[in-house]
Amino acid sequence: MFYKNKFITIIPIIICFTIAVLTSSIFVHAEDNSQNNNNKEYIKWVKFNIPSEAMEKALKADIENKDSEHKTPFITLLSLLGAKYWGEWGKYKTEDMNYFIEKLKSGESESSLSQNYEKFPYFQQVYQAVFSEMIGNYQISKQTDSNGTPIFEEKYGLKAYSPIAYGYKFSHCRDFGNSRSFGYRRNHLGNDLMAQTGTPIVAVESGIVAKCAWNKYGGWRIGIRSFDGQRYYYYAHCQKDHPFIEGLKEGDTVCAGQPIAYVGMTGYSTKENVNGMQKPHLHFGMQLIFDPSQEEGKNEIWIDVYDIINFLEHHKSVLTKNPEDKDYKTKYIFEDPTYRKFVKST
Ligand SMILES: [Zn+2]
Repeated sequence: MFYKNKFITIIPIIICFTIAVLTSSIFVHAEDNSQNNNNKEYIKWVKFNIPSEAMEKALKADIENKDSEHKTPFITLLSLLGAKYWGEWGKYKTEDMNYFIEKLKSGESESSLSQNYEKFPYFQQVYQAVFSEMIGNYQISKQTDSNGTPIFEEKYGLKAYSPIAYGYKFSHCRDFGNSRSFGYRRNHLGNDLMAQTGTPIVAVESGIVAKCAWNKYGGWRIGIRSFDGQRYYYYAHCQKDHPFIEGLKEGDTVCAGQPIAYVGMTGYSTKENVNGMQKPHLHFGMQLIFDPSQEEGKNEIWIDVYDIINFLEHHKSVLTKNPEDKDYKTKYIFEDPTYRKFVKST
């Protein structure tokens, strides 16, 4: 009897204990998952400061060796140097670039060259995000045959365009991070390209128009998201009364080099279509997105594009306009394979 009673008492204890263990393990798992979500590994901070001469040299090497057995890819070269300098590009020396070019050309692998650089994967990921669509294959047609069919030239190189069309002047300085105070105190997250009102603005990279409307800070502004979702380009303060190319709207796809808008001085006004800037200019910004949560909010990563703007001076879009037309169009047919692929797939 004693044993039986004891047995009866033990059973509920065992059951309770089992339930407690199971429940706590479920909670522990749930907590682990939530921690994983919150601490998901993605890049949260970037300081971009590669000098344009380093980009130019890396591009030249990339083009020169693109058909060789041992290539010298643009992103690899810059990632090796970024990792070597721990991002302190003030230390950049041409000899260092030459060293990596020669090593890669002699057949040494990227993994062997980067093995002592702890930060190599970080820089590779960052520079991949910045440059993945700037360099590559493209086609351009500048003439037609006797039947009027375009003759295309196959090209490889810088396929992203300067945001300012060919033949139009602009000036700029290193103004990233300067203080701005309209509405609230904040830092300047782009580069101001001072140009005449009406200067045509072209799309730097192909993508989808995410914003094309008025905003009290940027005035008439356009936001274009790259097809891979990793970059967001912001073009602001467009021209009063005729800010954008007629018909351009949110959801449209644009090709690199295509005219999208005109330089103006709108913005800094709660009222629409008001010139609130002191001088006409294009505010050009570039945002990197490693996780969807970074698209809008306090974790946005905007990079200093001053040197990128100088680098893009090597590729400018030539536009034409008939006197009776309101807008410009590209003079030559530019075929971006990424744009073609996206348009075909949708
Ligand atoms: Zn600005």
